[in-house]
Amino acid sequence: MSLPISLEFFPPKTPEGAEKLRGVRRQLYALQPEFCSVTYGAGGSTQEGTFGTVREILAEGVDAASHFSCIGATRASVREQLATLKAMGVKRLVALRGDLPSGYGAGGEFQYASDLVAFIRAETGSDFHIEVAAYPEVHPQARSPESDLQAFAAKVKAGANSAITQYFYNSDAYFRFVDDAYRLGADVPVVPGIMPITSSTQLMRFSDACGAEIPRWIRLRLQSFGDDAASIRAFGLDVVTDLCDQLRNGGVPAIHFYTMNQSAATLEIVQRLQPL
Ligand SMILES: Cc1cc2nc3c(=O)[nH]c(=O)nc-3n(C[C@H](O)[C@H](O)[C@H](O)COP(=O)(O)OP(=O)(O)OC[C@H]3O[C@@H](n4cnc5c(N)ncnc54)[C@H](O)[C@@H]3O)c2cc1C
Repeated sequence: MSLPISLEFFPPKTPEGAEKLRGVRRQLYALQPEFCSVTYGAGGSTQEGTFGTVREILAEGVDAASHFSCIGATRASVREQLATLKAMGVKRLVALRGDLPSGYGAGGEFQYASDLVAFIRAETGSDFHIEVAAYPEVHPQARSPESDLQAFAAKVKAGANSAITQYFYNSDAYFRFVDDAYRLGADVPVVPGIMPITSSTQLMRFSDACGAEIPRWIRLRLQSFGDDAASIRAFGLDVVTDLCDQLRNGGVPAIHFYTMNQSAATLEIVQRLQPL
């Protein structure tokens, strides 16, 4: 049985970036993704770029999901954006709270992603398939692991159809999270988010910010390679392919790749996993 994959991109900031991303997508479409998703800057800061990229993906004949964050948003602004997305033919959303850069007051009429999910359901019925975020290693602002699980279950109860996880390099955390969520009645598909390892400094920076743990042995091995990009790449491919293999053997419903708008690592990992 083949394992569905999905791909995540961020909206490019320049015309050159947009052109490069078109080329990256062309290469990645060889993997026949179930859908491609496009991230959304906090407070709507990338709305034009997000919706524009989603439009292009749909025009390329591929299902596209728009990420949608509600921090700082009002009901009226969300209603308006939902109407725009519906008119564009979008059928899938990744509904998030989002993070504002420090110094911004949150404001807005939504406190948590569960509020956004409930609002989308109330406003649009079953027009959208709603994905939400899940955190096998616990969201960094959660009061406790238990309250984070409850928060996840609340998103499912509010109407989420499935979830995509924050990236991780420890498959036990994922499987335990899924078991615990099921016990709380949150029995939707939870798709692991996979971050290919292509650069040591970039990975450390992201992981510190989002609370994803880099196991000590991976961190030390990456540090030991210094500026040797080829060794980092080769090691990263081995580690992430092994992780995907463990997840596949454990019966995950699909795999979601954080492509970082690059094609090479994702293509190589999927190729190594063949047949998927
Ligand atoms: C797959 C994926 C895609 C992402 N895409 C984007 C993107 O495109 N743009 C972007 O800006 N960010 C994105 N993020 C990051 C995300 O916005 C941040 O992690 C953000 O801090 C939390 O968003 P959330 O939707 O998980 O929030 P929530 O589910 O609302 O949770 C946020 C925090 O509040 C707590 N919480 C929730 N409900 C309650 C409650 N009732 N009582 C007490 N505590 C509660 C949770 O435990 C958690 O600590 C993404 C993350 C993932 C995993």
